Amino acid sequence: MNNNLHYDEKRREMVETQIINRGITQPDIINSMLEVPRHDFVPKELQPFAYEDNPLPIGDNQTISQPYIVALMIHALAATSSDKVLEIGTGSGYAAAVLSRLVNEVYTIERLDTLARSAQRVIKKLGYDNIKIKVGDGTKGWPEASPFDCILVSAGAPVVPETLSNQLVPGGRMVIPVGDNFSQDLMKIEKRLDGHLICTYITAVRFVPLIGEEGW
Ligand code: SAM
Repeated sequence: MNNNLHYDEKRREMVETQIINRGITQPDIINSMLEVPRHDFVPKELQPFAYEDNPLPIGDNQTISQPYIVALMIHALAATSSDKVLEIGTGSGYAAAVLSRLVNEVYTIERLDTLARSAQRVIKKLGYDNIKIKVGDGTKGWPEASPFDCILVSAGAPVVPETLSNQLVPGGRMVIPVGDNFSQDLMKIEKRLDGHLICTYITAVRFVPLIGEEGW
């Protein structure tokens, strides 16, 4: 079997067992997860493990998140096809790529230049042309492109950065892990039309730290 067919098969199995069987059945999320080749976002020597049920190292002490957690976070965002979404913590670029198949525009910020460059390369190769990547401190958001319908924070924060809540539209949603360096509560923050924030607990997670002015 050629390598790509082999990975297509593994990806179908991953979506079936790790995503659908755990209750995420929304067709547009399933289709995105089926489309995006996760093995392209991990180092070559780890490609055979790309569809396993865990995070993987991507260099610089950082990780690509577990597929189920990516799906769960995107599900909680309740993004629609016309949405503009900001992601903090591009990492490998995988979550941004999955999001880009679902929404109109994705803006993603990574603090480490090497990771941002490698994510940019993979995304360009795949031809996903609705993703903008920049290097910087994501806790300050992306003021020139704000406001956003949704914000996905892919690193663990000590508190919800106020700057990010301010860059959400009224009615917008943010999904963010909040806690200490060992474990966090994955929270959904909804900004009501009057500007009030409603926080809902989703599950316990373990992310690398969000490092920055409004992070660690
Ligand atoms: N979403 C990524 C993926 O699909 O591969 C996984 C993200 S990884 C768990 C967290 C990333 O957040 C790391 O690459 C880390 O360098 C980045 N990060 C941490 N603090 C940041 C900040 N203040 N601004 C931007 N990126 C940050």
